[in-house]
Amino acid sequence: MADQKIPQVTAKRLPLYYRYLEKLHAIGKQRVSSAQLSEALQIDPATIRRDFSYLGELGKKGYGYNVNYLLQFLRDFLKQDEVTNVVLIGVGNLGTALLRYNFYRSHNTKIVAGFDIDSNKVGKEIDGIPIFSIDRFAEVKELHNVEVAILTVPANVAQQVTDRIVAAGIRGILNFTPARLTAPPNVRIHHIDLTTELQTLIYFLKKFPPEENRE
Ligand code: ATP
Repeated sequence: MADQKIPQVTAKRLPLYYRYLEKLHAIGKQRVSSAQLSEALQIDPATIRRDFSYLGELGKKGYGYNVNYLLQFLRDFLKQDEVTNVVLIGVGNLGTALLRYNFYRSHNTKIVAGFDIDSNKVGKEIDGIPIFSIDRFAEVKELHNVEVAILTVPANVAQQVTDRIVAAGIRGILNFTPARLTAPPNVRIHHIDLTTELQTLIYFLKKFPPEENRE
């Protein structure tokens, strides 16, 4: 795959190319020249050739670009660049730590909002991430096109919060509470119980000290 470090100006034009190529594809066009693209999109042909050169060997001189190939290439390329927006519910100690943790640095994942019922927390920001009332969940979720939620509420409310966010269309939940949650089969729940993990580690250390495991 081509180098990911393409200039921002080029990256911004890729969706334009993509949309236009989709149109060409829809009317059955097989190839397109940079001159044709230039005219349709009002972008200088030299700029188009330079943009495409960042993506690798996409066209032959005198032939132009293969519409299908270019379309598939851009589709894959843009998908890799896609950022997945997630939200977090329960801005307590653990929730705050996770909001502060910059998932975005190493992955294309970004927490775009926190939710809580505590009026002292609602309306504030943590590291630039706004905290909303849980009553606004459906609205904010729709706005940011969110399908995944991190759950850091107290265990005794975890199921009711789950029911609510699932009803709003959440499809993936990272459950940091010790509660065992139930949800419809189209919802995926991953469970991270830090307390139990720590206790299990300590139990194994006591019961099976590592030295004894080694031959
Ligand atoms: P702290 O007490 O400092 O907030 P904590 O992690 O000990 O931290 P918890 O009692 O575990 O707090 O609650 C975590 C967060 O979940 C709190 O901010 C609380 O206000 C919030 N919370 C509780 N019930 C709900 C709910 N039904 N919906 C959304 N958030 C909730």
